[in-house]
Amino acid sequence: MMTKSKLKFLAGWDVWIARRSTSGFINDFKTLFNQMSGFNLNAIWIWGFLDDKHGGVEAGKELISYARSKEILLCPGIGVYSYSGVWCRGNHQYNLETYLAKYPERTAKMKVTYQDVHPLHSKFVNACPSNEDNRKWMAEGIKWFINTLNPDAVYFETGDYGVCGCDKCVGLSNSVASKIKIQLPIWEEAHKINPGLTIFWSTYVNYDNLSQEDTEMMERIPSYVYTIWTVTRDFYYDKIETRNPLPEGKHLALAHVGGSTHFELPYNSLYPRYSLRLFQPQVNGLRILAEACKKERWDGILIPMSGLADRTDNELNYRIAGKMLEAQDFDSLAVEEIENMFGKGVGTKLLDIFLKIEKLAKTLKKYFFWFRSFYNVPATQMGYTFTKELPAKSESIAIINLQNISAQLNEIAKEVQKCKLEMSVNGKGKICQVEDWVSEQVLLTTHVYPKFIGIQSKRELSDEYINDLEKQVLSDPALKPIKIATMRM
Ligand SMILES: [Zn+2]
Repeated sequence: MMTKSKLKFLAGWDVWIARRSTSGFINDFKTLFNQMSGFNLNAIWIWGFLDDKHGGVEAGKELISYARSKEILLCPGIGVYSYSGVWCRGNHQYNLETYLAKYPERTAKMKVTYQDVHPLHSKFVNACPSNEDNRKWMAEGIKWFINTLNPDAVYFETGDYGVCGCDKCVGLSNSVASKIKIQLPIWEEAHKINPGLTIFWSTYVNYDNLSQEDTEMMERIPSYVYTIWTVTRDFYYDKIETRNPLPEGKHLALAHVGGSTHFELPYNSLYPRYSLRLFQPQVNGLRILAEACKKERWDGILIPMSGLADRTDNELNYRIAGKMLEAQDFDSLAVEEIENMFGKGVGTKLLDIFLKIEKLAKTLKKYFFWFRSFYNVPATQMGYTFTKELPAKSESIAIINLQNISAQLNEIAKEVQKCKLEMSVNGKGKICQVEDWVSEQVLLTTHVYPKFIGIQSKRELSDEYINDLEKQVLSDPALKPIKIATMRM
């Protein structure tokens, strides 16, 4: 049921959106699909589609059928030798953890594990992609999935963190070519079962650094397969650069501008440590993506989402993302959508406020939550010298004075207040979410963490070491009060 217009995807895990119960999973996603229809978003990929805790096959069927009725292309995510396989969570013959517990010798010998790349996430295991039994198991699972659930589309992913290091896997790497080699038989198998099936897969990279081998393998991608490229240059979408024209075929641009990272889950008791959620209008990020899409013949976009459109920032992001590829002028669209949400007359002023918030939120997010963003910056470069020598390979330390940010937030708070006074009753509820976020951040940056230190280490730092460092830093009169955050890799 591919529509002629460009594909505008939301993408993410089940638990970013839905409560983990059968009724929660079904109702929350139905709510999202209704919202998506209203905003012109026409596709979604969902990881964690099959889970014992949210209704398994029956719930999956119901969502596929409901999405179809709303003309939304629902693509369940299937892990290829990774990401739990066909059945995401629970004891099932096509769940990768269940399978490898039964046949541990078929486990991949990973050079880089999932934990190395995503230290805060749950553990995933991998199966060796060169093992004949694993290939059979994968093919059977996909056949079972397609025949049982009858989806219109499937999204395949090999994993974004490396490959098996066994003797049979010599020659395979994390390259685009290797990923195609591993996935091509899977696509062909799926297509054989249902020739009408649309298939998506991710490269995890942008296309401007492809090797000769990558380019050759790209030519073997069948016409029913869409390739997804990560176009965000870094996690914070400062720029989207592409040096080369897009290769032949069908292509989607994935950018991290939907309002989410994994760290701002809106109401998710499963991951309490991610409970602090930023307010994230992403107007500038979406503008950059829209500009990139105008330059190239993309078949659509994907933005990872972080929740229902009940959240003001999500609603704004989804409204703009749904229409920006067809809009003549991005800023006029943004103003129009803001006025649709908040009322006539406040669009330009609020657009300005949202752009300021976006910039600040980005800075706060970077320093508080995403230590990897300064992973390779030595502490000395961050302007700090240590009396005690740091252990090798652990020098990524940042000290941030948040008082400037606090002052800017105070200014924004005043502007939000002014807008609120001019607003119609309808928009007031939505502006309250903005107001709440701003005042919370003022509080944090003024009183809780006026100065903040982040430590990132590739190797395990001992508790003794952390305590020593904390004492050393806390005794520095120039740096108080201070919060030390460490992240174990
Ligand atoms: Zn292997």
